[in-house]
Amino acid sequence: MVDLKKLKQEKLKQSLKKKLDSNVRVFVDENSPCLFRDVSKCIKCGRCKEACEMATGLAQHYDVNKPGKPDVCIGCGQCTLSCGVDSLREKSSYRQVLEELNNYDKVLVVSTAPAVRVALSEEFGFDFGKYDEGKMITALRMLGFDYVFDVTFGADLTVMEEANELVSRITKKAGKLPMFTSCCPSWVKFVEMFEPSIIPNLSTAKSPIAMQGSIIKTYFARQKKKKPEDIVHVVITPCTAKKYEITREELSVSDDFGYMPGVKDVDYVLTTRELAHLIRRQNIPYGNLYDGTFDELFPRGSGGGVIFGSSGGVMESALREAYYILTGNMPSENLLKLEKVRGLNGVKEDEINIGGAIVKVAVINGIKNAYDIIQKVKNNTCDYDFIEVMTCPGGCIGGGGQPKVKNVDDFIRKKRSDALYSKDESLNIRCAHNNPQIIKVYNDFLDGPLSETSKALLHTKYFDRSKEIKKL
Ligand code: SF4
Ligand code: SF4
Ligand code: SF4
Repeated sequence: MVDLKKLKQEKLKQSLKKKLDSNVRVFVDENSPCLFRDVSKCIKCGRCKEACEMATGLAQHYDVNKPGKPDVCIGCGQCTLSCGVDSLREKSSYRQVLEELNNYDKVLVVSTAPAVRVALSEEFGFDFGKYDEGKMITALRMLGFDYVFDVTFGADLTVMEEANELVSRITKKAGKLPMFTSCCPSWVKFVEMFEPSIIPNLSTAKSPIAMQGSIIKTYFARQKKKKPEDIVHVVITPCTAKKYEITREELSVSDDFGYMPGVKDVDYVLTTRELAHLIRRQNIPYGNLYDGTFDELFPRGSGGGVIFGSSGGVMESALREAYYILTGNMPSENLLKLEKVRGLNGVKEDEINIGGAIVKVAVINGIKNAYDIIQKVKNNTCDYDFIEVMTCPGGCIGGGGQPKVKNVDDFIRKKRSDALYSKDESLNIRCAHNNPQIIKVYNDFLDGPLSETSKALLHTKYFDRSKEIKKL
């Protein structure tokens, strides 16, 4: 006869053993610039590992869980969104930023990414996807920043450079096709570590925050008669991987367009969650704040810069610009609302007629959906010209540094994304080349897209890091 009590006890033992096995959770390298785990809080529930597999597919293809191995995590932070006991979180920088805010010898500059303003107020009890840049700006001023700038300016710069690069790859064969976007640092790290053979397909254009950093530490610094090291530049992002991106030395060019040890173009990255924490810690009454506005010089960019925060937004903005470069005309209404590349499907595609030439594009929403296309690129059977890849579901609006006031699902992602598209539609300036500040910086300083100066400041290079990992 079966001893039911014994059987139950055995099952309980097995499930406890499973829960207590460290392999149920993602491996966190103690030197990771992106992640931190408070081991004392970890209940080994395994949700972080499930999240990693769901979002990135990494564990299905590569070994991401072996303690003692080099850090093969791409830093997207999707695992942090799933940790219900606050054991796993971003590697925090808010204490260093607080210290800098008390340093009166420095010029304190903050730039905020578009996806932050449609999620920050969730931390303070407002509806999901509320577009609220005004309170955020005022809160940043109250924290003590001297200048509050908008990363949509950097996004417009990225569009200008990336669209020109795409056109030059298509018309002058000046580089490999398809061209992949490169503004997601997790995607770039993924390519460098796991698929280095497609590095030549990556756009060399830096990400919006990296471009913004280079311009602030050069153009802005010269205007203010400051040295790059006199400026502290903090960026607020929805992204944990940006904490890794700013450690890449080749992105910091502020010292006469070269890297100077210890001087970075972006000094600190704070996630949306960290900013909310800072606001609460300093007792700033967020809900009652009046609406502030961005500082001149780098205020809000075009609508194209605003939609960068959504999956498909980078592609759509770049195509608006490519159309203008190739035809000399403003994009039609259809191009200003490219429905086929919007939304939360894993792979979206479209064909765009630009002055008689057909440009085939794809948008990969979530890195787990990129594997098939990468294989096609490697086999030379891919007929797309331009491919956007963003690691997080929904793009940056679903980034690993966003609020986790509730399980972040597609309903919430859609609300955040809709808020960005509505903002784009409400703006008079929808394309980067119409942004007066962009025109001014190119005229005064950069000497046009893909110029020698632009290449030195706004483009970068990538490295084969495949030796750092061991494939399964
Ligand atoms: S989700 Fe959090 S509590 Fe669960 S295993 Fe991962 S780190 Fe530990
Ligand atoms: S940060 Fe991203 S890649 Fe790294 S363990 Fe977490 S989910 Fe996986
Ligand atoms: S999709 Fe956006 S938030 Fe996510 S890793 Fe890439 S840049 Fe960061």
